Amino acid sequence: MSLEDDATAERKMQFLFALRSKGVMDQAVLTAMERIDRGRFVRGLFAERAYEDTPLPIACGQTISQPSVVALMTQALEVSARDKVLEVGTGSGYQAAILSLLARRVYTVDRHKRLVREAREVFEELDLVNITAFTSDGSFGLPDQAPFDRIIVTAAAEDPPGPLLAQLKIGGIMVLPVGQSDTVQSLIRVRRTETGFDYDELRPVRFVPLIEGIARDN
Ligand code: SAH
Repeated sequence: MSLEDDATAERKMQFLFALRSKGVMDQAVLTAMERIDRGRFVRGLFAERAYEDTPLPIACGQTISQPSVVALMTQALEVSARDKVLEVGTGSGYQAAILSLLARRVYTVDRHKRLVREAREVFEELDLVNITAFTSDGSFGLPDQAPFDRIIVTAAAEDPPGPLLAQLKIGGIMVLPVGQSDTVQSLIRVRRTETGFDYDELRPVRFVPLIEGIARDN
């Protein structure tokens, strides 16, 4: 092995160790996290910090989530290989890429056209052909493709948006942060049952807010 390979292997081990130490136990999730190189989703100045367990700035004033949070949300979503998944908040595309290795099909939407365009480029480079990315206001879900087996929201709303609850299949799971922006939010998991919705609270998190409407800087 060359020195460079050594450094890469060491970095990968530390990255996976950080995930395990934060409670990520699901082997399929760990394997997906190992296979998708986060460095492809962070550009410019911050690229060299891509393997740290920290959120980082991306274009349009948004952030790529912390890897351990991505892993814990993915684990909580209990994705299976038959699932059709909706992600609200494409951002860098990193979370969608992880999901694409676990699910049958991933739809991801963002209100910033530029983020969608850049994420699509990376999906293409990595040959992740089961992801479809759209520019749209994800608080309305994606009615044309509904219902979904799994929904993940990576921006915080005060409450779970009604259209997203409505687009979840019976037996389906949604994972999302809720709470006022700039205060502590809670990551919650919603399961749709025959008769309603069951909620459980997973942990405190901090996400950028879910904002209504397509961004004006598009
Ligand atoms: N999942 C991303 C991180 C997302 S940051 C990743 O892996 O990198 C949250 C994203 O949600 C931002 O890109 C923001 O533009 C987007 N967002 C906020 N409100 C939205 C809305 N109503 N519809 C769609 N996207 C929204």
